[in-house]
Amino acid sequence: MEFYRSLGVKTLINALGTVTRIGGSLMAPEVVEAMADAATHFVELETLHREAGKHIAQLTGAAGCCITCGAAAGLAISAAACMTRGDIAKCRQLPDTTGMPDEILVLKCHRILYDQALLLSGARFVEVGTASCALPQQVEAAVSEKTALFFYAAECEGLRGSLPLEEIVPLMKKRGIPVVVDAAAELPPVSSLTDYLARGADLVVFSGGKELRGPQASGLVLGDERLTEACSANCCPNYGIGRCMKIDKENIAGIVRAVELFMAKDYDAQYREWTSMSEEMAAYIARRGGADVRTGYPSEPGVQPANILRVYIRPHQKMAWEVASELEKLDPQVYVGISGDELVLNPQCLTAEEARLVAQAVSGVL
Ligand SMILES: *Cc1c(COP(=O)(O)O)cnc(C)c1O
Repeated sequence: MEFYRSLGVKTLINALGTVTRIGGSLMAPEVVEAMADAATHFVELETLHREAGKHIAQLTGAAGCCITCGAAAGLAISAAACMTRGDIAKCRQLPDTTGMPDEILVLKCHRILYDQALLLSGARFVEVGTASCALPQQVEAAVSEKTALFFYAAECEGLRGSLPLEEIVPLMKKRGIPVVVDAAAELPPVSSLTDYLARGADLVVFSGGKELRGPQASGLVLGDERLTEACSANCCPNYGIGRCMKIDKENIAGIVRAVELFMAKDYDAQYREWTSMSEEMAAYIARRGGADVRTGYPSEPGVQPANILRVYIRPHQKMAWEVASELEKLDPQVYVGISGDELVLNPQCLTAEEARLVAQAVSGVL
């Protein structure tokens, strides 16, 4: 903590989850070592990027992989890949889209904060349906020779206005239009790495700085090899819109090592650890009183990852947001989630020791 302290910046205890604005996730020592090692030698970046991508593709079972400096960069670069298909003249022309398909089809209820990244390519959205309803016929009617890709936000799949990926895929396949899925925060389960591709998506984008526990500025685009190669053509060190989304040798080394660790991890043991932390926090806080306490899984769509047991706390004397803001003023600060009138504790980024501190802090404020 010396470095942060030298700047007068406090560290915090994260009972919220893999959230970018409070640091994403923490890297294993092996990942830090790989980055430190990579930092001590010169290397041809394009070759490293290609070979590291091949290695991750092999590990995950995807046909191709393009490493990016985050999932948001992956979205921008995927759009550029679908529009240019890797044609170097077109890569250098973007975001001027003259002569290229430049429409991104999206279900209206799949518009999310992160989708702005796709527009950096110069493309624009064509929304299909309404917030509460979309029909396959509307999707079909929206397709034209200007359609560059279909964007699908994994976290929106369960919404009322959504359609299953399986209904979108055949409509796009028969016209040769790629389907790009934003699954940035859909890990765990590990199976998400391959599920969206198995269900017919052409490209799927993940954040390296969330459950993959790689460098915070890293991400993966997995999928069809021709398209991931087109991604790389738009990526640093090549000149294109991806030039300002530099992925460096250190981050490439870090995400490679992180994916190796992720694939080898015993997730059954990890889930048991998460479950016992949540149960212990819930039991402690219930014993100390001042709130209704339960454990459970998030029921509202869009909260990721959904399969980690949380603690839900309804305070008796204060509003949930008042408790949360008092927790953020403690030293160390404690970050928790809020859902309606409940506080939410997510053990995803906690150690057992921190979980005890969180339970004490919450009870203290209650
Ligand atoms: C976190 C997130 C992103 C951005 O990921 P970065 O790796 O931080 O760029 C994009 N889309 C969704 C749905 C996310 O949750």
